[in-house]
Amino acid sequence: MIRVICIGAGAAGLFFSLNASRSDVEVTILESNPKPGKKLAITGKGRCNITNNKPVNEFINHVVRNPKFLYSSLNQFTPQDTMEFFESHGCPLKVERGDRVFPVSDKSSSIIDCLVKEAKSSGVIFKYNEKVINCYKDNEEFVVQTKLNEYRADKLVIATGGKSYPLTGSLGDGYKFAQNFGHTIIQIKPALCPIKIKERIHKEMLDFTLKNVEILAESQHFKKKIFGDLEFLPNSITGPISLTLSSLINRFDDVRLILDFKPALDNEKLSNRILREITKTPNEDVRHLISTLLPKEVREFFIENTNFDLDKKLNSFSKQERLDLINYLKHFKLTFDGLDDIEKAVVTSGGVNVEELKQKTLESKIVNNLYFIGEVIDVDAFTGGYSLQIALSTAYAAAKDI
Ligand SMILES: Cc1cc2nc3c(=O)[nH]c(=O)nc-3n(C[C@H](O)[C@H](O)[C@H](O)COP(=O)(O)OP(=O)(O)OC[C@H]3O[C@@H](n4cnc5c(N)ncnc54)[C@H](O)[C@@H]3O)c2cc1C
Repeated sequence: MIRVICIGAGAAGLFFSLNASRSDVEVTILESNPKPGKKLAITGKGRCNITNNKPVNEFINHVVRNPKFLYSSLNQFTPQDTMEFFESHGCPLKVERGDRVFPVSDKSSSIIDCLVKEAKSSGVIFKYNEKVINCYKDNEEFVVQTKLNEYRADKLVIATGGKSYPLTGSLGDGYKFAQNFGHTIIQIKPALCPIKIKERIHKEMLDFTLKNVEILAESQHFKKKIFGDLEFLPNSITGPISLTLSSLINRFDDVRLILDFKPALDNEKLSNRILREITKTPNEDVRHLISTLLPKEVREFFIENTNFDLDKKLNSFSKQERLDLINYLKHFKLTFDGLDDIEKAVVTSGGVNVEELKQKTLESKIVNNLYFIGEVIDVDAFTGGYSLQIALSTAYAAAKDI
């Protein structure tokens, strides 16, 4: 009988266990929480975007760190395999915008229940309220210590997740365990998180979505434009554009952010539109002109960070002022003030160095029979169901090996 211990009953730990457990492989999951899948429960705003129905070669373009490392595990267990798994185990799925896959029930509990049920029927032993505090190798055996107990195993799987949303149990313990086994941790950073800016966010912006804008983020070694929707928090920008950008800029300090309020209009088209408005309403003032160009929720924010004479009549609005207005609308500077705390990030970037893991099996190259799966590894991806698929695919690859 091979004895396996898996630390963590998140997406990766649950899927690993149900695939590895069989008559001659005994799998015990040690979970610090009183129940499994606490982070899974809050995924996709409680709906759980379990995967993304793209072929692997496209899927990989949405992985930020170490996409090539994931090729093997994603090919061993593809997004389509995930869909087939849940569909055939009593959890029907549906595909939404952007190939995002959700349970038909719109409840993450359907996904958790399915995984736990399958794990139990494969014979997995669940131990809750068992926070692992230390693990090491004693000759060929792994010793895993919790506050109350000591476990011994032939193989050890670390599925402790990242360091984001610590209330879900992901406290970054896996990094400490990995280091004790001689692994390197690539510096962890927040990813998919709000970006702090120095400009004052006005009250009326807080529940508002600024649609179809573009942000250019650049630093000395980096330049990227992202188009989409932007949302606001008291000291930061958030929403799809900001989340994506945060994953790309989280290793740079000197970032410049430039917001284009009107990406669909080039300078000439925008100029014509402004001219038309001036001709139509020559006796109106500059404040009126701005109101025709921007949604009301962001007008005061725009005005506060520009220097127009708002009471000036449009019939005396000069060509230079028109050019300045175009410039502000298309190159509005947001002053980067770092990223939000890792605790508030949707995922953790960084983690166990992939160069020290076997690509095909996720086994450590340093310690035999030790495996790392899921978010504890230095891989992360954009929003859209990619992170959970990575957890499932790496879990499957390790289970197959064992
Ligand atoms: C708000 C939010 C929404 C998200 N939505 C989505 C989404 O819709 N789609 C998507 O693909 N991804 C989403 N993600 C990301 C996704 O949830 C994670 O990438 C994924 O859960 C990682 O799985 P994991 O099993 O590696 O880690 P986790 O799910 O974090 O599980 C790790 C487990 O290990 C346990 N553990 C940790 N340390 C110990 C210890 N010392 N002893 C015992 N147990 C321990 C923890 O309690 C936890 O249960 C979201 C994340 C957040 C925070």
